[in-house]
This record gives sequence, structure tokens and C-alpha cells, in this order.
Amino acid sequence: MGYNPDKDFVQYAQAWEEKIQAFIEWRIGEELLPAPVTAAGNIPEEARTQIAGLPFAVKDNIAVRDLPLTCGSKLLEHFRSPYSAAVVRALEAAGGFVLGKTNLDEFGMGSSTDNSALKKTNNPWGIDRVAGGSSGGSAAAVAAGIVPYALGTDTGGSVRQPAAFCGVVGLKPTYGAVSRLGLVAYASSLESAGILADTTERCRAVFACIRGRDPQDETSHETPEAAPALYHAETGRAKKIGVLSPEAIARALAADATGSEALEIAVQASILEDEVRRGFELAQERLAGLGHTLAPVEIPSLKYGVPAYYTIATAEASANLARFDSIRYGARPDWAKNPEELIDKARDAGFGAEVKLRILLGTFVLRSGFQDRYYLRAQRIRAALRRDFESLLGDSGYTDTAKFDALLMPVFPSRAFGRGPSSLSAFAQKAADLYTCCANLAGLPALAFPASVEGGLPVGVQLMGRAWAEGTLLDIAEGYEQAFPFPHPEGFQAFWRQVCTKPL
Ligand code: GLN
Repeated sequence: MGYNPDKDFVQYAQAWEEKIQAFIEWRIGEELLPAPVTAAGNIPEEARTQIAGLPFAVKDNIAVRDLPLTCGSKLLEHFRSPYSAAVVRALEAAGGFVLGKTNLDEFGMGSSTDNSALKKTNNPWGIDRVAGGSSGGSAAAVAAGIVPYALGTDTGGSVRQPAAFCGVVGLKPTYGAVSRLGLVAYASSLESAGILADTTERCRAVFACIRGRDPQDETSHETPEAAPALYHAETGRAKKIGVLSPEAIARALAADATGSEALEIAVQASILEDEVRRGFELAQERLAGLGHTLAPVEIPSLKYGVPAYYTIATAEASANLARFDSIRYGARPDWAKNPEELIDKARDAGFGAEVKLRILLGTFVLRSGFQDRYYLRAQRIRAALRRDFESLLGDSGYTDTAKFDALLMPVFPSRAFGRGPSSLSAFAQKAADLYTCCANLAGLPALAFPASVEGGLPVGVQLMGRAWAEGTLLDIAEGYEQAFPFPHPEGFQAFWRQVCTKPL
């Protein structure tokens, strides 16, 4: 079956896109023929019907053959990919097809998508607000109903935070659950392809398609036998959920902050906005009402998560981005005296300020004689965080019993912020990554879903789980969604719901 979008849908999508600017390039209005379904045998039937015959969007740091791969950077503005990422090929094999490439913070560095050198993306809930980042284009496209789901990447929260800002589901899988072949690397040991979707059911289906070992990515794994099943688990079983106290974390951060201006800003940025606190409390009440058992938990190492994350992420970025020198990749300056000047000119003109800052930070933390002070310390914090999480959730090898099925925490201390004076400073945005970056440091799965709408904007909450337990997180969120259907911005139409209820 071909995708021959009806005129109403094309008009609908174009009207939204004019307002939100989610795409860097799209194929709206073209008649697209999805590739023949070739992987039907490996994919559960429930999953296939959520994907076959439907378009999806792809963040523009994930390769799709013949489409741009700009990474939101001037340096790659005219680059097109000669091949498709493994995750894209898996969805195409299930009958999905790519509608277009979405906007992002340059190379995935940021929390608003405003660090894109190519365009500004607006939030469908209020176009004077950011869509979040770095997968802001993907989140906005799903929230507006232009596509039923989109791919993003999550290195420190870039799928979950824009999902929360736009009121959609966002999954960061266990490290290694999904192939990274065809993702443009920012911080390889932290990142994973992730999913932004309109419903938990769709998110589960997409994950079922893209997970698994890829012989071309040696860090990828099959899900171990002992892990909870993705489909047909005891969906209705009441779960034990540990609840992290944001107040306790803010207090712990404040205790260390005495006298340091930067740390004072970090403490301020970690305090939940009133509306986010209300949404977080409501989510707890509702989950308890659904029969789950909730109990408070403490994770002492969490307060060191942001410094550890930015140390490791920038160190890896400084190495990963070395290939963008206009010799291997990137726009080449017209003229240079020698190769060094060529590289200098290309990087000076091609990279934005945030990318330059992070490369400099990365080389700073790795400089000889100082590794002990920064990089190795960050690695020790990372190990401590993983231990703290495993003591609550159980280990990745499934050799012990878990105290909790999942941990509940906020996604981000604020709802979608505005631009101009109401914006968060670049430093405060980094400090506010404290709830998302820990899942990446620990390599654990985390799922953001809309808990409520407060003051006209969605508030997301986050569930973190044991390695390979995406199914458990999706079960909890799906129960919530059934009782409290996810909200949509004004003007949203449920095209995909209608298409999906018809046999494809
Ligand atoms: N806000 C984080 C950062 O700026 C998230 C990045 C990501 O997950 N790609 O690094």
C-alpha cells in the first residue's frame, strides 16, 4: 500500500509546520511508497499495525539515505547521508517510512533546540515557547499530530525533556538495547536512539522494532531472557515504585553550595516550578489510586550527576567532533595557507558557540596532568550512581531481587520555557538536567510521559527502571494513560488514531 495522504491531512500538517517549524526538510505532499515489509516475522503483530503504512520523523543527527544529515549545524548544512541508520532501516522493514528530518540543538547539545544553527522550533502548546531539546523538532512534530512517532537521540535527556515540554511519550532505552549505527556521535558512552510517540502503545511497538543486537554495533545486545517481556507481561500487576524527593535533592545541593555563585544558580535551577510540583504530586496520587505501592527513596549520588555528566559528555564530544574538520566532513573554506589554517577556519565558521564551548571544556578536562581531578572523578561518580540505582532496582544481570520495579521522578524542574527574559540561562539549563542525565550515566531505561496539564502547559514525569525493563515502565505508563488519557494542544486532530483502527 502506498502512502497517499489526503488533502486535508497535507493542509493540516502544513498549517502546523508554518507555526512550529519542526522540520529541516520533509516530503509532505509527495506520494511515498513504503518499502515492502520484510521483517514481519520478527515483529509482534501488535507492533506491526502501529507502524506499517504510517510515516515517522527522524531527528537530523540520525542518518536517512538521500536526506540531509545537518545535525543542526552550519558545518553540515549541505551534507546528505549516503546510508540509513539501523534504527531507520528496522522501521522501514516493518512498513514505516520517513516523512522528514527534524530540527535539533547543534549536535544534540542543548535543552531548547534554539542551539540549532538552521531554524527555531516552537512548542505546539504555545508558539512563544521552546519545544525543549535537543530532540525538539521530533517532539513538536508528534505533539502537533504531523507524525504518530519520531526518532530522537538521548545523551542526557534529549528525548525525555522535549517529550515532557510537548506532552508526548519519550523513551530512552537501556544503553546497548538499540543499535547506534548511523547516529552522529556526541557522547558515545551515554547516548542511545530514543522514541517520541503519541501513545505508550506506539512507543512500545517502535521499541519492539528497533531493539536487539546489531552485528555492526558491538555495544548492542539482545534483551536477556530474565528481563520482563515487552508484550504480554502482567500489565495489570501492581508495581512497587520508589519516589525520589526533589526537595531532598535541592537541600543536598544547597548544603554544598555555600559561597559559590555558580552553585547557587545550580540550586535555584534544580527547584521545581510550582506547576511541575503539582503535576508530580498528582502523578503520585494517581499511581497510588491505580493500586501501585509508592515509597520514598534516596539517591545520595544524584546531586553529583550534572558535573559528572558534563565532564564525561564534553570529554567524549571533543574526541567525536574532531572528524568535522572540512577534510573528512564539513564545509571547506575557499582558501587556507596550510592544513592547520584550513581546519581552524572551517571549525570557526561552522560550529556554533555552544559546540565550541563544549569542545573546549572537553579538552580542558582531559588535559594531561588533570585527568584525576575531573575525568576520573566523574567516572567514579558514574560508578557510584550506577551502584545506588542498582541497589534499588536490581542489577543488569538479573542476579538479585529488586526492591522497586521503577523509580518516579520529575523530568525537568520547569515546563516549556519562553524566549527572551523569561528564558533559562545556558548554565541554568545545564544544571536543570539533573533528573535526566543520571539514567544515561547509569545506562538505565527511562520513560517520560504526560502526567497533567498545569497552567496551559503539559507536565511530564519520568520512570526509571532496571536495565532491560522497558516493558515494566511502559506497563505503568500505559495503565496511567488508560485512566487519564494524554492531553493534546489546541487544534490537534487524531489522524493516526483513525488510520490505526482501520485494518492496514
Ligand atoms: N541537555 C543535555 C545537553 O545539553 C541533553 C543532551 C542530549 O541528550 N543530547 O547535553
